[in-house]
Amino acid sequence: MTKRVVVLAGDGIGPEIIAEAVKVLNVLQQRAGLAIHTEAALVGGAAIDVTGYPLPKETLDLAQKADAVLLGAVGGYQWEHLDIRIRPEKGLLGLRAGLDLFANLRPVVLFPQLRHASTLKAKVVAGLDILIVRELIGGIYFGQPRGIRTLANGERQGYNTLVYSESEIERVAHVAFALAQKRSKRLCSVDKANVLEATELWREVVTRVGKDYPDVSLSHLYVDNAAMQLVRAPKQFDVMLTTNLFGDILSDLASMLSGSIGMLPSASLDKNNKGLYEPIHGSAPDIAGQNKANPLATILSVAMMLRHSLNEAAMADQIEQAVSDVLSQGIRTADICQAGETPVSTSAMGDAVVAALAAGLE
Ligand code: NAD
Repeated sequence: MTKRVVVLAGDGIGPEIIAEAVKVLNVLQQRAGLAIHTEAALVGGAAIDVTGYPLPKETLDLAQKADAVLLGAVGGYQWEHLDIRIRPEKGLLGLRAGLDLFANLRPVVLFPQLRHASTLKAKVVAGLDILIVRELIGGIYFGQPRGIRTLANGERQGYNTLVYSESEIERVAHVAFALAQKRSKRLCSVDKANVLEATELWREVVTRVGKDYPDVSLSHLYVDNAAMQLVRAPKQFDVMLTTNLFGDILSDLASMLSGSIGMLPSASLDKNNKGLYEPIHGSAPDIAGQNKANPLATILSVAMMLRHSLNEAAMADQIEQAVSDVLSQGIRTADICQAGETPVSTSAMGDAVVAALAAGLE
């Protein structure tokens, strides 16, 4: 049956990297029988410019009816003056909440060809393969009340609320434990239970859920220690489970272990494995429009989409193999170049992946 995929290019480098991901989908449609129907729609600043809203109703409607959503990135300098309630980033938060995407999967894998691209010593990161599972639609990013108020003494005060209910923790913990079962059966839950009551409950509930997965060994770390350990000895981790805010920060930190934020894909899943797939980086306004962004995180997000939402695991493997082949050929965008290497453009990198993929399909 033909599956529906909504493609949201977004802002900044979004349209450039999404164009390369679409080339990859086209090859699979033409040469491997991938049965999908793609529809483009507006989100973020691009949507604000046309409709006044970062997540127009028709985009959310299309996304809700689709089997999967592929997103570039949102945000940029030109929308930073807007009220925070209608900024581009609200489009993304609205999509995550509107699709009930509570589990965010962020694999941090170091391709052996890039072991020298990391700022850490090659021996520290060689063979790295971590999966960060981040709770995505709860915690302090969504908690109420929130805002900026004026106190009786005239001083302004910003405030947000960190809130997690048991069911919110349980459902994402089940996802993380099930994924750990398919990997090396080790799960580390990251919290700040020594200071924050919401994460004291987090630790208690994760421990309780763990009783259903006796084959998975569960450990707990405070987030400050987890940040330190990720840089000191990252290979001690397999699956890491954490809250929305901590996951946001730790996964950006972990991205540098892999050489570049431009290498890391992500999947955000609902309870039926319907998902939103996007690179973990933002819209990179500093390099937008220059055809130099790395499209591999977006292309690897397509692989995750095929595996998790479209039931095409073999095609996902073929994309990942094509990316690996291209890296073995020494083809690099600027962000993963070593001294003496000449970077290729966004589109040249996309073309190289398409060529490697097509060769693998012959
Ligand atoms: P960013 O991830 O856009 O950029 C951080 C740095 O990484 C920049 O130097 C950028 O050039 C570089 N970079 C990012 N992606 C790259 C790629 N594919 N190839 C090469 N280099 C790359 O983060 P930021 O600068 O903090 O945010 C810029 C905008 O993006 C802001 O408006 C922010 O709100 C938004 N943002 C959006 C998302 C999203 O859409 N999911 C995520 C994070 C930030």
